[in-house]
Amino acid sequence: GGTGTASTIRQVKLEKESELRIEVANDTPLRLRLLNGTAEIFGTELPPQIWLTFPPHFKFAVFTWYGATIEMDGTTETDYTADETPMVSYVNVHAVLDGRRNQAKASPESSQGPRVIVVGPTDSGKSTLSRMLLSWAAKQGWKPTFVDLDIGQGSITAPGCIAATPIELPIDPVEGISLEMPLVYFYGHTTPSQNVDLYKALVKELAQILERQFTGNAESRASGMVINTMGWIEGVGYELILHAIDTFNANVVLVLGQEKLFSMLRDVLKSKPNVDVLKLQKSGGVVSRSSKFRQKSRSYRIREYFYGIANDLSPHSNIANFSDLFVYRIGGGPQAPRSALPIGAEPFSYAQEPDQIVSSNVAGFIYVTDIDLQRRKITYLSPTAGELPSKYLVMGTLTWLET
Ligand code: ADP
Repeated sequence: GGTGTASTIRQVKLEKESELRIEVANDTPLRLRLLNGTAEIFGTELPPQIWLTFPPHFKFAVFTWYGATIEMDGTTETDYTADETPMVSYVNVHAVLDGRRNQAKASPESSQGPRVIVVGPTDSGKSTLSRMLLSWAAKQGWKPTFVDLDIGQGSITAPGCIAATPIELPIDPVEGISLEMPLVYFYGHTTPSQNVDLYKALVKELAQILERQFTGNAESRASGMVINTMGWIEGVGYELILHAIDTFNANVVLVLGQEKLFSMLRDVLKSKPNVDVLKLQKSGGVVSRSSKFRQKSRSYRIREYFYGIANDLSPHSNIANFSDLFVYRIGGGPQAPRSALPIGAEPFSYAQEPDQIVSSNVAGFIYVTDIDLQRRKITYLSPTAGELPSKYLVMGTLTWLET
């Protein structure tokens, strides 16, 4: 609003255990607030009366356990109310996990809390369920660790990475996960088939570091983990799910929206009596996203890394000499097509699998905007001014055209 157009404010009354599903318009944001009652967005309670602004394309639901009135200002692509949701089954899972956390905390040697892994096809609501379980746990004072193994549509950092971060507060419905010190490993591609061995190596590395951190931190150990995965569930994708379950010692496997995957996992995990495999219904509200939309949201995530979700960050353009930096590309998979390489990348030296680089988490990302072969200079965008924390750069096949 604010531009002199007619007011588009309207109210929606929600009965108990129902939700308002919204897709924000493609070009304008939507403002929304809780007028009365109580409601939550993917596990995080809405503050009463406060207007929240949701950016274009945003897809979400406002759910109420006991009834609420919601006020909206702006246009939507779609919005409708649904009273059939799987929320009761989701919150029951949360209650079981909570019991296990209490058990872990109360045990004399303070043992390991639940390690939950969420699996299922793309657009089955995995990220959303992960988010709810994390926010509900954080609301009760736990500090669960969120592990995101989705290199395509991850919610912790830039695409092409796997990452982990402790969740200490319910996740902000607009801003997403607030990052103190995420542990990030750069894979560099958006499909794991590009380099399966590297993907597995990074998953293993991440799991080992977390294991070490848990040893010294009873609180986060008892809080456990929620692990989100990719939607690739066939062939190598299935193998990678088993690899993740094994590597993280997951003991609760939540299968969303696929009978076949559920039955396969149940059978193969029968030999592990301490692993529970549960089937959960996919929410009818989950929106399918086209591959073009996915590509766009990846670009948006990269943009968000440098500029912030509300354009509140200002990245710096810096120039470095070729001699100041070392650029590596991690081998093992098929070579990147030449078109994916930055122009003039040839003069850099590429090391063959340098051990310390593969096993190191990344400090941050830069975006190479120009390469001057004559002056041997590289221009790049960085979140901060000044010198980079390291002279080692790792290159992937992700591309981003700033628009
Ligand atoms: P996955 O992780 O399995 O690919 P997501 O959890 O990311 O799926 O869900 C896909 C999209 O659907 C996301 O944009 C998410 O915000 C949206 N979504 C999920 N559940 C709901 C719901 N109940 N109502 C409206 N939108 C939803």
